[in-house]
Amino acid sequence: MHPSSGDDADVIVVGAGPAGSTAAAHLAGAGVTTLVLDKAVFPRAKACGDGLTPRAVKELIYLGLPLGQADGWTRNRGLRVFGGGHRLELPWPALASFPDFGLTMPREEFDLRLVRHARRAGAEVVENANVTAPLLDRANGRVVGVVAATAAGERRFRAPVVVAADGVAARLATAIGRQKKANRPVGVAVRARFRLPRPPRGDQLEWMESHLELWDGPAQTGKLMPGYGWVFPEAPAPAAGPAPADQSAADQSPARAAVVNVGVGSVASSAQAAGAAKVNYRELLTRWAAGLSPAWGFGLEDMIDRPRSAALPMAFNRQPLYARGLVLVGDAGGMVSPFDGEGIAYAMQSGRLAAGAIAQALARPKGDGREAALRTYPELMKESLGGYFSLGRVFVKLIEHPQVMRVCTRYGLPRPTLMKLVMKLLSDLYEPRGGDWMDRTIATLARMAPAA
Ligand SMILES: Cc1cc2nc3c(=O)[nH]c(=O)nc-3n(C[C@H](O)[C@H](O)[C@H](O)COP(=O)(O)OP(=O)(O)OC[C@H]3O[C@@H](n4cnc5c(N)ncnc54)[C@H](O)[C@@H]3O)c2cc1C
Repeated sequence: MHPSSGDDADVIVVGAGPAGSTAAAHLAGAGVTTLVLDKAVFPRAKACGDGLTPRAVKELIYLGLPLGQADGWTRNRGLRVFGGGHRLELPWPALASFPDFGLTMPREEFDLRLVRHARRAGAEVVENANVTAPLLDRANGRVVGVVAATAAGERRFRAPVVVAADGVAARLATAIGRQKKANRPVGVAVRARFRLPRPPRGDQLEWMESHLELWDGPAQTGKLMPGYGWVFPEAPAPAAGPAPADQSAADQSPARAAVVNVGVGSVASSAQAAGAAKVNYRELLTRWAAGLSPAWGFGLEDMIDRPRSAALPMAFNRQPLYARGLVLVGDAGGMVSPFDGEGIAYAMQSGRLAAGAIAQALARPKGDGREAALRTYPELMKESLGGYFSLGRVFVKLIEHPQVMRVCTRYGLPRPTLMKLVMKLLSDLYEPRGGDWMDRTIATLARMAPAA
């Protein structure tokens, strides 16, 4: 497509995280002239657990990225859950709709790959371009472009559709009055990275560890702290150069997974409840990480990347996802799951669905038909995730109380069938149609819950 006269592109995407880069790659792949602006220069640091569930892997497959271990990914086969004095392995479910493996990769490298992929697909990406305001059509208040501070000074960019993929701060959406909904859950998470000074034990590298209780001191007898924790093993990116002759041996080498991403998080059912919980998360992380030493062998002196934290905007906390020329994707539209704090899969899914709706819209002349095509994006998002996120809001209200969580872990974890169901629900990995009785139960609940 060629932008109309006066426009710099068919679409401007603000932010090149997973949401923005995915949207840009799909848009450019559909022949849409796409301009991406990001304030950072890639690779850039990002607070994240670096964990990708099969839902996110599915989005990477849609993009066509190579996913081999030789490409720098660390593969895992499920969650190893700790809580109530129990330990349980829950492999990712075998489903028709999703792959059966998860991945990890440091976000610096992951996001760089996505940006490069968008560029290769044909999108123009301008780094070091800090978008400071929307450009509005005075006649109708429609967003028709953005103002950005670039290396070459302040610049104005115009396009008939603008995608806000600028993350949790959501500066663009806020600037046109799309405020956060106070009744949505809000999470906070902090992570650090540790070098493993000794080879990991057994199959430790094959699982994403999830701790449902945080103990300050010995488990079960120390002090129970608020929140949940994780340990996600990940490999540093492979050294450049020819692959070794015996690739499978190289893939299994413990040296490749010499790093773990360790983090803690907590979630509150509303902005008000979040404000009431006065917790120093960085301190919580260091205290909890110190207790992992017997299992993993690292100490605080092995920290190689300082703690970084950020908020987790959940359950569509900013709406509408489309109106007046501005589309919201990823954290900018508050799409982190209230169940497990996962945001990358939803950021990528929203980028893909938004790109589809925009490509259809731009194939039509300006006017009602184009607007109707753009409005299919929020409808699709609500249809696929609205009910599920509503269930998540109820879930957060329950587990907000550590005592409820404690009873659930103590009596729930020893019941493998129940835990299989819980794993499918919490990780949003069930067949939307058909499947076994667990899939059908979750799908029915998600369909019955009102999408809000
Ligand atoms: C500690 C922590 C751990 C987490 N762990 C996981 C996990 O293991 N798995 C998971 O799935 N999710 C995790 N999440 C959530 C996940 O990180 C986010 O949901 C995800 O990054 C959202 O992607 P995004 O593209 O919407 O936003 P971002 O990744 O935040 O990208 C936004 C981009 O916009 C750019 N930008 C911002 N403002 C401007 C501006 N004004 N002008 C130009 N560019 C701008 C930024 O530079 C950035 O590149 C975690 C979050 C935290 C805080």
